[in-house]
Amino acid sequence: MKGEKKKKIIKTIKIDVDKCNGCRACEVICSASHAAPKYSGNNPARARIRVIRDPLKDVYVPIYAGDYVPAECAGRDKYTIDGKEYDECAFCRASCPSRDEFKEPDSGLPLKCDMCEGEEEPMCVKWCLNDALILEEREEEVEEEAETREEMEIGLESLAKKYGMDKIMDAVARMSMSKKG
Ligand code: SF4
Ligand code: SF4
Repeated sequence: MKGEKKKKIIKTIKIDVDKCNGCRACEVICSASHAAPKYSGNNPARARIRVIRDPLKDVYVPIYAGDYVPAECAGRDKYTIDGKEYDECAFCRASCPSRDEFKEPDSGLPLKCDMCEGEEEPMCVKWCLNDALILEEREEEVEEEAETREEMEIGLESLAKKYGMDKIMDAVARMSMSKKG
């Protein structure tokens, strides 16, 4: 169903891998600020940003979590950029079946960056002292709520199929506690 168009601010994080030194402060602050209650603990495995690290090759790639995808892709290519070799997966933001990134360690539920909604600035951007993460905002025209709701329902249905409704409800309860905390 098509709704009316409205303007929306789209936030993205620009990543400069040359500036990242792999300190993982972004993972720590992301997991701490999303803990329930807020700041009650930090576990980078729960972070919605992960730093792919290979110190011997001076490879550090911070990636923030995007959408859940139900099937793994066929991409297994390698890229060489400025003399450094990267797996194709290193740049991918998806929570997918073929790797552990962006999954809640206990439930296996996908984690997705929410741009630290409610905060003045994304916490990872604020805490990256090397300016490897820069917030960018642009205005776009998007369809009104109807479409968003449709997309959300499709997403929830596929999650419920994969994980079962109980786990979904647990995750929602945890998320709402973390918002209150
Ligand atoms: S806080 Fe910045 S420099 Fe440190 S790992 Fe994250 S992106 Fe890299
Ligand atoms: S913007 Fe917020 S939720 Fe997203 S990765 Fe950074 S700290 Fe985590």
